[in-house]
This record gives sequence, structure tokens and C-alpha cells, in this order.
Amino acid sequence: MKTSLFKFILLLLVITACNNNDIETAQEPVEIDMSDFYLYTNTDEVSSKQINGKSQINKCYTMSNLNRLLDETPGLETRMYAIEYQTRKFIASKKPSGTPGGGPNTEDPTDPAPSVPYDGIVTIPVIINIIEQYDQQITQAHIDSQIEILNTDFSNNNTHLSSVPDEFATLSADFQIKFEFAGIQRKTSNKNSWGTRDAMKSSKKGGFDPIDPANNLNIWVCEIGGGILGYAQFPGGPSKTDGIVIGLDYFGENLDGKEYGHGRTATHEVGHWLNLRHIWGDGGCSYDDFIEDTPRADGPNYGCPGEVYSCNNTVRDMTMNYMDYVYDNCMYMFTEGQNLRSRALFASDGARRSFID
Ligand SMILES: [Zn+2]
Repeated sequence: MKTSLFKFILLLLVITACNNNDIETAQEPVEIDMSDFYLYTNTDEVSSKQINGKSQINKCYTMSNLNRLLDETPGLETRMYAIEYQTRKFIASKKPSGTPGGGPNTEDPTDPAPSVPYDGIVTIPVIINIIEQYDQQITQAHIDSQIEILNTDFSNNNTHLSSVPDEFATLSADFQIKFEFAGIQRKTSNKNSWGTRDAMKSSKKGGFDPIDPANNLNIWVCEIGGGILGYAQFPGGPSKTDGIVIGLDYFGENLDGKEYGHGRTATHEVGHWLNLRHIWGDGGCSYDDFIEDTPRADGPNYGCPGEVYSCNNTVRDMTMNYMDYVYDNCMYMFTEGQNLRSRALFASDGARRSFID
């Protein structure tokens, strides 16, 4: 008798708890936590890292370029914060714990209407802007192979995919993005270092202005200098410099690029262009890349590493992710979390929605 009564009371409590929970879920706005968001980074940390007594180069200049752009571009910080907010709201709406349908934050009257996700294949027309040191240094084969590599990597078809370790096997993602060659501008120049201040993106400075960057991914291929393989501009940056830059030796399947001659610099830089951060979060263990399914790491990995553990993790670093610094043949996956973050750009209120409309 006592037992039955106890069971009855317990059942009543469970029903009450469920009801309360339902009411809370229906009324509570999506809470977006922006507390870990950062834009400026100390990029010296990477170049000061020593591996086997050898100091390492910052092979991608994207975060340093972002520091410069933030200093020089009024309103960029606010714009990028808004893009991050929209991205996190989009991700929250895709999770079971988020408010169904991803309703607007009713506590904030300036909050826009909820995102309408775009679930189809995104087609990205690609304009190649080549500034080479001699005629046909970049061949049609380089161009064709680069487009093919981008399509392979963003559709989760890398030939090294079988090497993804078991613990990450279910995470590798098909972004459903298709890259299509859309045009070319090319010239020769004896300049052997175009630097990292976007000179190659300006006709006034001897480079090429981008072609319609709201509807094309512009790739500049030129000698950057300083050991830099490439750099990108994140969504929200100035339209006149939107796109990615790749060093001549690292474009497409390219013998001159040696370990970096298999086109993955472009995959990595397009990752940034699609709002992905470096896998280690550009600031030690307390900094994140804002992706749930990539383990935190304390810095970039180089070469072709085996199992690396950092930040007291029991899970290894995801060194095989395209957003690390390893050799081209040793990076072969993006994750579902990275896919979701990039997808937010193509939602109805996304920063790269113009590619859909
Ligand atoms: Zn990078």
C-alpha cells in the first residue's frame, strides 16, 4: 500500500515537472551566450612556438590580417559581432535544446526575425585573379585541379578519409557546396612579394579589383612573400577586398609547393572565408574555435603528426582537420559542427546569403 502511494506521488511529481518544463520551453527566448567571442588575437604566439628546437612560421596570415582590418575599418567589429550572434542563434535553432523554430529573442526588441535555413546545394562561382612572374606559371591544369580539390574537400570525398581516427569518424562533413570556375583575370609582374596588405586586390596598386564579390568567390594567386602560404578575409569584411589569396607555389596540384602542393591552402582559406576559425582557436587552451565537436588545442600542429594531446584532453587533437597547419596530405576533414557554422552564412539573414538569392 505504502509503495503504491509512493509511486503515485512520484508519478504526480514527474507529470508536474514535465508540464513546467513544457511551459518554460515555450516561453523562454533563445539564450545566446557571446561571452567567449573574440576578434583580436595575439598572432606572435604561433611564430614563437618551437617544435624540436625549430621555430615555426605562421603559414596562414588570416588572423593577422583580421587584426589590421579591425584597426582600419570603422564598424567592422560591430558587423562581425552581429554575424557571430546570427550564427549562434542559427546553431541554437538547429539543436533539440533550442526553442522550436528558433524564435526571436523577445527580450531584445532590436533582434531580427528568425533565420530561414537554406538546405540545398550552395553553388559558389569562382573568379581566379592571377599575377604570375612569367607567362603560364599557373597553367590550366593548376586551375582545374584546384577547383576539383575544393569540390572534393567540401563534399567530404578526400582520398585520405579512411585515415580519420575512429573517435572522429562520424564527424566528417559534406558541406554540400559546389565550386564552379566563373572567370579569370591574369597578368605577369616581376614583383616578388605582394605582401599582406591587399595590394594584389587593387588595380590602383598593380593588382586586380575583385569581380562582384557578393556573388563570386575571388581567389588571388600571387607571390605573397614572408613564408606565407595564403590568407583570407572573414565574412563581414570590406567588399573590395573580399576573397582569399594563395601563393603561386601552393595553388592547385603543384610540384613547386612540395608538401603544401596539393591544393589544401585554398581549402583552409575558403574555410576562413566561410567563417571558420583555426582548429586551436588562436590563443591557447582558453580560446575556442566556437565549434562543439572539435577538441580544444593549445596551438597549431605541423608536418604529419601522429597522436597529439593538448589542454589536458583525453581526446587527441584533430590534427587532420583542414583548419590546422599540417601538410596538405595530412589534412582531410571538416566536421559537422564546422558545416553548421558555415551554413548559417546562407540562411535568410546570413552574411553570404547573396550567393543564394
Ligand atoms: Zn588560417
